[in-house]
Amino acid sequence: GGLKLEKYKIAVIPGDGIGTEVIAEGVKVLEKIAHIDGSFAFSFDYFPWGCEYYCKTGKVMDDDGLERLSKFDAIYLGAVGAPNVPDHISLRDLLIKIRQGFDQYVNLRPVKLLAGAPCPIKNINREDINMVVIRENSEGEYAGAGDWLYKGKEQEVVLQTSVFSRKGTERIIRYAYELARHENKTITSISKGNALNYSMVFWDEVFSEVGKEYPDVKQYTYLVDAAAMFFVKDPARFQVVVTSNLFGDILTDLGAAIAGGMGLAAGANINPEKKYPSMFEPIHGSAPDIAGKGIANPMASIWSAAQMLEFFGKKEWSNKIIRAIEKVLTEKTVLTADFGGKASTKAVGEEIIRQLSLLC
Ligand code: ATP
Ligand code: MG
Repeated sequence: GGLKLEKYKIAVIPGDGIGTEVIAEGVKVLEKIAHIDGSFAFSFDYFPWGCEYYCKTGKVMDDDGLERLSKFDAIYLGAVGAPNVPDHISLRDLLIKIRQGFDQYVNLRPVKLLAGAPCPIKNINREDINMVVIRENSEGEYAGAGDWLYKGKEQEVVLQTSVFSRKGTERIIRYAYELARHENKTITSISKGNALNYSMVFWDEVFSEVGKEYPDVKQYTYLVDAAAMFFVKDPARFQVVVTSNLFGDILTDLGAAIAGGMGLAAGANINPEKKYPSMFEPIHGSAPDIAGKGIANPMASIWSAAQMLEFFGKKEWSNKIIRAIEKVLTEKTVLTADFGGKASTKAVGEEIIRQLSLLC
């Protein structure tokens, strides 16, 4: 019989504010690619969850949300947040619920300075900023463990406890080693063993232990304070970076800043075992200040669509998307306001698709 068409079922959660605007462009890019390639197809099912939904229904996501999402191959998320809804509610009831419910313990963020992208570091060689940060996404400093030891002003003492399990630490470090080996790159563990004398000493031990199974991978360790400095002073040192939840959170924002800013920063929340769907999202928020105007930069969300394709084993397509974004960045004729242009979200989306077609 003829060729079998691969089908990927995508759950789309556009969310709030510019989330809805940038996700629309990413979906168009994915549709275009499936059309050009012809060997696979996407179906997109939309879920209206987020803060606007919360204001109407009292829920950020339906109670059976996870169960419904579990039927999909991937989740494509815009951004969730609104000025009138406390961040901790939208985070807890949607983002964290999905990350934890689907055991998306890998947070993967490319920190790569694309051709034509602005960089605040002077005299940088573009190729010097090209790393992947693997952030532990399920426990560590964000485990939510803690207590109020004493209440009442003068003697108040509050504890916030980090939780590093053998399983949780080993699996994230192993994921990073596998990636480094597969891509023939160096690995750098970023921790703080000199000050966090239980958690980070343990982390360092696991990194070196697992490292014995990867003698072919060049291994480095940095203290987080030094690493933050070198992200700016000499980012070429880093290729695959593995770090804890809190350190990863901070370092990836720094990473976004050196690699073109919020309009370009993409992220993936991955369940490597593929027991549950993984989630792909631009890392920026709903940006209420520019929402509804059609001027948000869709590049971050389109790059996260590229990450989705790579996750599906379509690295060539992922590379093509990135090259198309680079074309648009270097030609500088169709850019949104954050990059000094006057173009709309839609116009940039269309221009990326046009460049993509030229590459095929
Ligand atoms: P949230 O509360 O959902 O996190 P936010 O306003 O904090 O939303 P951030 O992602 O933190 O959003 O972004 C901060 C600012 O950066 C935004 O207010 C916006 O001005 C700008 N920004 C973020 N993403 C984009 C984008 N894709 N295009 C253009 N500007 C953006
Ligand atoms: Mg924010």
